[in-house]
Amino acid sequence: MTTFDALLTNCRFPDGRIGHIGLAGGRIAALGEGAPATLSNQVPMLDIGGDLVLPGLVDGHLHLDKTLTGLPWMDHAAGPTRLSRIDTDKKILPNLPVSTEERAGNLLRECVARGTAHLRTHVDIDLESGLAKLDGVLAARERHRGQVTVQTVAFPQSGVMRCPGVLDLLDAAIRSGADLVGGIDPLEIDRDPKGQLDGIFAVASRRGVGLDIHLHEPGDMGLFNVHEICARTKALGLHGKVTISHGFCLGDTTERKARLAAEAMAEAGVALVTHGAGGLALPPIEMLRAAGVLVFAGNDDIRDTWSPYGTGDLLERAAIIGWKADFRRDEQVETAFDLVSAAGARALGIGDYGIGVGAPANLFTLAASGVAEAVAAHPPRKLVLFEGRIVARDGACLPAPLSIK
Ligand SMILES: [Zn+2]
Repeated sequence: MTTFDALLTNCRFPDGRIGHIGLAGGRIAALGEGAPATLSNQVPMLDIGGDLVLPGLVDGHLHLDKTLTGLPWMDHAAGPTRLSRIDTDKKILPNLPVSTEERAGNLLRECVARGTAHLRTHVDIDLESGLAKLDGVLAARERHRGQVTVQTVAFPQSGVMRCPGVLDLLDAAIRSGADLVGGIDPLEIDRDPKGQLDGIFAVASRRGVGLDIHLHEPGDMGLFNVHEICARTKALGLHGKVTISHGFCLGDTTERKARLAAEAMAEAGVALVTHGAGGLALPPIEMLRAAGVLVFAGNDDIRDTWSPYGTGDLLERAAIIGWKADFRRDEQVETAFDLVSAAGARALGIGDYGIGVGAPANLFTLAASGVAEAVAAHPPRKLVLFEGRIVARDGACLPAPLSIK
């Protein structure tokens, strides 16, 4: 007889069946329909009450270092341009009464409370703050190690070629523990696509890490850089290790040009992460996926100097993307869910993902009949488990993970 550390009973699986989940050593040790055949009185049991059980969510793009989560409300202070938001960041963030580590921690707990198990955060690296924000985010990651996993991207928010010295800082950031090299609008911000892309790909190649590049540039300008990124990814053998963030140009062009870009991305193994930005074109998610591009999603800015919106809820984010993409049928809404779950896990290189025997017991429960309803209504998460321990309950993160007793 298999010995379990705990049993979850009365679980609703996405296919509608009701069953149980046996947990052992922080992993899923058994899955079955109905009640378990042999019950030991020694095994702690938790009745899930017929609620839906889903795998821990994956936030593929956010900015832990920028958030104002947990602070008193502040009026949005930036002007309408990206450069104005960059400048506002530099004025506001250093003068806040709480550290980057504390703010990042505040947001991490909000994400955990809503069922996020894994996330990739961009962290500003610039001449003014050097690696200070990365240090803060890495400290927050360490403090929340038993609740969520965090990947960091060394992100040159203010530019690379227009800020001499930033390339060296990106290299130093990787040596200090950042997981990927970032980039930003090589033409619009830097006015030097060859310089920036050659520079950041050289750092990534030298340090053996991947890249995740913010590309807000519209139309042909953005598409030019999509193809430049694909060419470098192929040349350096980085298939599967490069992501384009946003890629608004893919939704802001002709169908033929979008298809050519999709084919290049699929061939090079360049993924796309989207958040369904307000006021900007959404990349054609279904066409990109059909062409073989790995598309995933994230929240991007959550209540920060860039945007007042957001709570960290990835089911709400999936609903926003689905609404914007005009996804209506269940299978389309399930695509939106895939972006914040399994597709995100593939992009972040998370193995053993999902509700399956042998996988880490990262899951959450909520009152919904299936995946489509979970996305559309995104009700509160009742119970969140990370590696078999309870990390959040009734929509609130616990101070420390609890074993099921
Ligand atoms: Zn971003």
